[in-house]
Amino acid sequence: MSYSVDAERLLRQFLEFVRIDSPSFEEAKFEEVLTRELAALGLFAKNDATGREGAGNLMATLPGTDPTLPPILFATHVDTVEPGRGIKPRVEDGIVYTDGSTVLGADNKAAVAATLEAIRYLQAAKPRHGDVEFLYTWGEEQGLLGSAALDPAALRSRIGFVVDNHDMSKVVTQAPSQTTLVATYTGKAAHAGSEPEKGISAIVAAAKAIAQMPLGRVDFETTANVGKINGGSARNAIPERVVLEGEARSLDAQKLERQVATMTAALQAGGDAVGARVEIKWQPQYHGYHLADDSLPVRIALAALATLGIDAHTGSMGGGTDGNHLVAKGVPCAVVGVGYAEIHSTRENIPVENLRRTAELIVAVAEETAKQAG
Ligand SMILES: [Zn+2]
Repeated sequence: MSYSVDAERLLRQFLEFVRIDSPSFEEAKFEEVLTRELAALGLFAKNDATGREGAGNLMATLPGTDPTLPPILFATHVDTVEPGRGIKPRVEDGIVYTDGSTVLGADNKAAVAATLEAIRYLQAAKPRHGDVEFLYTWGEEQGLLGSAALDPAALRSRIGFVVDNHDMSKVVTQAPSQTTLVATYTGKAAHAGSEPEKGISAIVAAAKAIAQMPLGRVDFETTANVGKINGGSARNAIPERVVLEGEARSLDAQKLERQVATMTAALQAGGDAVGARVEIKWQPQYHGYHLADDSLPVRIALAALATLGIDAHTGSMGGGTDGNHLVAKGVPCAVVGVGYAEIHSTRENIPVENLRRTAELIVAVAEETAKQAG
């Protein structure tokens, strides 16, 4: 199969997109541009306005050439991480980098630009395909906020593809559940030199608790971390208050429950050991999922990648994507790769070649859906 995606036009649009700042919670300006670009292609982008200052999830539909085929969804996100302002992309030896002072924002604007090029291709070549829904979420980098806020009634598709991973030869079928922790110890302040016996150290309580927690890679599918600790007031004061923040993730919901119980018991024991009070708050962030290798979105993604000459495999991911919320909202989603590298760092980059392949992948998925679901 041969596609004639216009790689130069795609690169131009990608470079233009990353120059428009869109850090999380400040997506509105970029969304205006994206809305205009979609309108130029005849697509109306609906904004659910669940974000801040006019930002929201954008949804647009490319009508199918065969209305009997099932609609499919492509999800990408429009927000980028910091440092992500004033991005100056440069192309060197076929790879797009920044000047080293910001991220590039190929996560996820490479995929956003690729959707537009795929729409142009599908409109020009008119292969057999059903309706294609495009979802552009806000706040993904801040904990999948846009997809969490999304009204599932806004989507018609029951097959989806989240275009947001580094590895193009992998179709992600499994992602963890994650829950976050805030624990606050309250001890008793006292002068550390003159009357230490009157104090209760919140820092000692936290230290005892952390020391008995299984952290890091707890098992092959479970991880846990205490990532932040804040407390104390002065060198010579017994610390009255400590706040620690952490998280736990697992591909297995029961293991996650067990890990949370173990960490909770450790937190309690740390407080009991010195007589400090502890307030423990766990907040589930998203639910994990596992799509079967023979489920429709996975089969379609693998077949589409094969048409691009990519021999892909299925696997899991250590973090959540918008797919976690979309699956929970009734749209089973396979996560496919964009081919970016070193995301969330100032070394972030993407080969121009992978931009083109991402657009081709979107086209191929639409065409494969016609073959497999038609
Ligand atoms: Zn991303």
